[in-house]
Amino acid sequence: MLNTYKRLLELKEETAGRPLCIWGAKITGGAVCSILLREKFKNVSYVVDSNPLIQGKMLYGFEVLSPEQFWDTAEHEKPYIIVAAAIRGKEIFDICEAHGLCRETDFCWADDLLGPVYEIDLTSSCNLSCPSCPQTNYKPNTATMMDLDKFKRIVRHIKADTPNVAYIPLFCWTEPFLRKDLHEFAAFLKEEGILPIVSTNFSLEIPNLKEYIRLRPEYFRISFSGFYQETYKKAHAGGDINLVKSNMYKLRHLLDEYSPDTFVEVYFHEYNYTPQEEITAWKAVCDDLKYTFTHMAAIVNPIENQIAVMNGQESDTVKKVLDTLKFTYKKGAYPDLRKTPEVCYSFKNMFYVTAEGKVIGCDCLYDEEKSLVAEDIETATYTEMMAAKRKNEMCQKCFELGLPMSNVALSSNPELESVDE
Ligand code: SF4
Ligand code: SF4
Repeated sequence: MLNTYKRLLELKEETAGRPLCIWGAKITGGAVCSILLREKFKNVSYVVDSNPLIQGKMLYGFEVLSPEQFWDTAEHEKPYIIVAAAIRGKEIFDICEAHGLCRETDFCWADDLLGPVYEIDLTSSCNLSCPSCPQTNYKPNTATMMDLDKFKRIVRHIKADTPNVAYIPLFCWTEPFLRKDLHEFAAFLKEEGILPIVSTNFSLEIPNLKEYIRLRPEYFRISFSGFYQETYKKAHAGGDINLVKSNMYKLRHLLDEYSPDTFVEVYFHEYNYTPQEEITAWKAVCDDLKYTFTHMAAIVNPIENQIAVMNGQESDTVKKVLDTLKFTYKKGAYPDLRKTPEVCYSFKNMFYVTAEGKVIGCDCLYDEEKSLVAEDIETATYTEMMAAKRKNEMCQKCFELGLPMSNVALSSNPELESVDE
């Protein structure tokens, strides 16, 4: 049995009869809710988040409270808290201690309970050709589409193998809304008690957006760069920012009508040429639409390309991308992480399943030969895939070069010592 699943079952016994709080209402919080309800925990009592755009919404039937509301309500009965925040974990641990709670008996880290994440591509393609993405800068993976029956078999197999699988992103290196039947895949996950996640470039006509929103998705991500076409088209080649904008408003309209509790997050990828006023302009639009806006420095993907960069073997396409980034990959710039693999969030937790059903070592890798850990997800187990990942040359090189340090895949576990650059 997976250690995380064992811990989940122990927690059910240990906290029975005591109010349980999930702190964090984004993807990780939603994932924790989904798995606790599927495992029939009877004591889930609170969901808390400091983001005002989520407070007051319902997540899996629970109203999201502000931390202040929570401490006021919880003061008479000591709660048990599952910290499910992706970036403020350490801060929340400190807040819990300041309220007299103890790490051993009163709160824990969500990742201790959650099963692995399988990012599943439902198609092998994208409508755009971003130079920083393997869709453009790498030899393409086998062109195919995953059919719904295969997807259902895969999900059932994953659930039998890792019963605490909590959420499944319906994308990794592709645009999920290229599938006109995307809602059918998400609906199946919901039936199975698994949280579906999508991230879209929104630069396409989406005739099935209404069908998708009518499923009342808990989470929806939009990702782009630039407010005006001149900036946008540099990184999101082939895209149309006006189409993105019109979809952003259309989404608000659909959410108001069918799914007001959906949490929408916008990821803006920043390059060294990005004008600050375009970030400010998007922030204002997102505030108006009640979407949470986050901007972050763009990187070059996938890891196989980062390894090539560190070894001075990058292609001309990748070289051009490097010139636009806000930071530099430097040979030897990061410490060797081979002795501390737990620092990489993707190592223990993530796999990428191609539209053909092959399994790649993690969601940052792409090469269906070099980075393969199983030929067919339907016949592979988590234990076998982890064993293959440990031996995989690309993953080993990534650790050796310390690349998780330059990547968003770095673990946010508050109990891990930070690794100095
Ligand atoms: S980064 Fe996203 S939008 Fe751009 S090509 Fe890759 S999958 Fe498509
Ligand atoms: S070390 Fe690199 S390749 Fe291996 S799991 Fe982490 S991010 Fe992926």
